[in-house]
Amino acid sequence: MSDCIFCRIAAGEIPAKKLYEDEHVLAFHDINPVAPVHFLVIPKLHVPSMAELGPEHVEVMGRVMTTAARLARENGCGEGYRTIINTGRVGRQEVYHLHVHILGGPEVLPAMLKR
Ligand code: AMP
Ligand code: ZN
Repeated sequence: MSDCIFCRIAAGEIPAKKLYEDEHVLAFHDINPVAPVHFLVIPKLHVPSMAELGPEHVEVMGRVMTTAARLARENGCGEGYRTIINTGRVGRQEVYHLHVHILGGPEVLPAMLKR
């Protein structure tokens, strides 16, 4: 998956501001933050999007989500945050390596979607 930017970050080929890393999971700050706290949590395994998740991903996605919750607590999101997974064309996904956005900061976030 050498053409996947997040696989390349996971492999250390492209620099990122890493928050946490283990064998299965990587978290790093979004390069273009849209909130005071904005980081991404990814499985190191290349899964293109949430649409491709299956039973074989239960364990790694459990790791991704519990890591996201812990890092949110530890990085200034103790009063809450927003978790976003954009999926596919309709979801306006830009990077096709499954990633969880954590967005937060001291202030209440804007409304989720404009009506
Ligand atoms: P999306 O696929 O729309 O859920 O969002 C992809 C996110 O990845 C965007 O918020 C980008 O700012 C972010 N991004 C793209 N390239 C990098 C990079 N090299 N390092 C950190 N974040 C990135
Ligand atoms: Zn990838």
